[in-house]
Amino acid sequence: MNMRIFAHHWTKFILACCIVQLGACSASTANLQNSNAGNNAAEQINGANPSVVTGARNELRNGPVTEDISRPTQIVVLGSGTPIPDAKRASASLALIYKGEAYLFDVGAGAIRNATKARYRHDIPALYPSQICCVFLTHLHSDHTMDLVELAYTMWWRRRDGLLAFGPDGLAGMTRALAQFMAPDVSLRTGGNQPTPNPLGYRVSATEISEGIVFEKDGLIIEAFDVNHGHVKPAYGYKITTPDKVIVISGDTAYSEILAQKAVGADILFHEVVSEAGLGGRSIFWQNYHNSAHTTSSNLAKLARSAKPAKLVLYHGLHFGAPEQQVVEEVQAIWDGEVILANDLDIF
Ligand SMILES: [Zn+2]
Ligand SMILES: [Zn+2]
Repeated sequence: MNMRIFAHHWTKFILACCIVQLGACSASTANLQNSNAGNNAAEQINGANPSVVTGARNELRNGPVTEDISRPTQIVVLGSGTPIPDAKRASASLALIYKGEAYLFDVGAGAIRNATKARYRHDIPALYPSQICCVFLTHLHSDHTMDLVELAYTMWWRRRDGLLAFGPDGLAGMTRALAQFMAPDVSLRTGGNQPTPNPLGYRVSATEISEGIVFEKDGLIIEAFDVNHGHVKPAYGYKITTPDKVIVISGDTAYSEILAQKAVGADILFHEVVSEAGLGGRSIFWQNYHNSAHTTSSNLAKLARSAKPAKLVLYHGLHFGAPEQQVVEEVQAIWDGEVILANDLDIF
């Protein structure tokens, strides 16, 4: 094949990829089995130029394969940030990967874009957006919920099942409002000639929870507990237990004694944090607010000294202009355990 013909075929291939990316193609067009798609993409990312990922991948799967089911429990950071726009951090979101399924804890803005990146960077098919089964919300502040619509409605017609969502009172009304917001899309896609393998895939099953065990499946136990997020009530933290890991997630909270108790013996404690150096430069009104609703670095260090998690991972960090790494030093000045400042797409 001479170069001109090769280039012609390559152009057609790129065009086909673009059509797939539009998402309106038929179910029979360019469906890549997830294992092939994952391998190809993983090769591209792990290859000579990991920043280049060519083409959209239209993934389907009938469920986790043995290789995925046998992986150890992992957590992927989909969003390490806050409400403050940040070029390198999405808002709050963590993904638990267990037995080939992805369980999200919060879903702030940018989290689902990161889920696609993480799917290929870490070769986790469960993180392909339309494959994510479940989301657990800590509370309904926007920096924890903004990507709920993106999670529920990205390629909804390709979902095996609609999204399962768990969270505080108010979640059911929120999902009804999202359905109203997206009703034109559902109507357009189901009312024309677009194949919709699952015409009900957009439906979100919302469960408003209270304290206690809220989910159990195949050795996975998810427990919600009240935390102290100022006037935001309820606000939950989560304790996740699997056969090989105990993980505690703070959500947004001031120092919480219950959380300190839940985190005793945890393999990983993911906890929000406020830099004291940064907070010192804020007005007294903002200092009062943050002290009542969030956890300063020294209070977090005291909590860690009490709970002694094997690993403390800081996320949802409010730095207010202080160098980010300084908050780690502030915690380590009081607690000598392992402290890591999470970045988006980190995996634990
Ligand atoms: Zn909040
Ligand atoms: Zn927040």
